[in-house]
Amino acid sequence: MIDRDDLLAWVYALQKRYAAEKAHLTELDAAIGDADHGVNMDRGFQAVVAEVENHPTPDSAALLKTVAMTLIKTVGGAAGPLYGTFFLRAGASCAEKTHLSPADVTALFRAGLAGVIQRGKAAPNDKTMIDALGPGIEAMQQALDAGAGLKEMLARAAAAAEAGMRNTVPMQARKGRASYLGERSIGHQDPGATSAWLLLKVAAEVWIRFH
Ligand code: ADP
Ligand code: MG
Repeated sequence: MIDRDDLLAWVYALQKRYAAEKAHLTELDAAIGDADHGVNMDRGFQAVVAEVENHPTPDSAALLKTVAMTLIKTVGGAAGPLYGTFFLRAGASCAEKTHLSPADVTALFRAGLAGVIQRGKAAPNDKTMIDALGPGIEAMQQALDAGAGLKEMLARAAAAAEAGMRNTVPMQARKGRASYLGERSIGHQDPGATSAWLLLKVAAEVWIRFH
């Protein structure tokens, strides 16, 4: 079972990972965007960590809501409102719950993804973060349905999200700034799909002890 402290450990690990990947994410965005995605994610998660250290977040829902509001305030661009919506919906999905079962964790990620889709209106293969999140969360659901535990579920989700991220390379962008490039967006990995893969990958790494 995942509790508020496990979610907090995920958030801290995300901050470290986005800081470490800042140059890489920005380099990806330089090719098809405006070279700020790594800077945006790093700034956002640094602000998130500062916020959770200064304000009490007694339960999972409060914690995820704080993450959401801080990302919306500090990330800017396309990714800020989209990841903000992800965490807002994720938080709403676990209101009232102190411990999240594998099914609750799957529901949390599904709620987050639904929020991103509703907010950004991207379809699969538009070359966005949902091309990593979608296959990742689909694999999570399939693993859950097959009776896998949390560790296995997240490992499969991270692997599917990674494949989804790589599949963005030959896509032509149809949403966001990269879409302005038309065919010239082909041949580059989407920065948002890369940060979205990390969201799942870091959860898999942080929660590896949950069999
Ligand atoms: P901006 O494009 O405003 O500079 P970022 O560079 O932080 O914002 O984020 C760019 C990423 O946002 C893209 O790589 C893409 O994955 C994602 N993105 C852009 N528009 C959408 C959308 N409508 N739906 C989902 N993801 C999107
Ligand atoms: Mg950008």
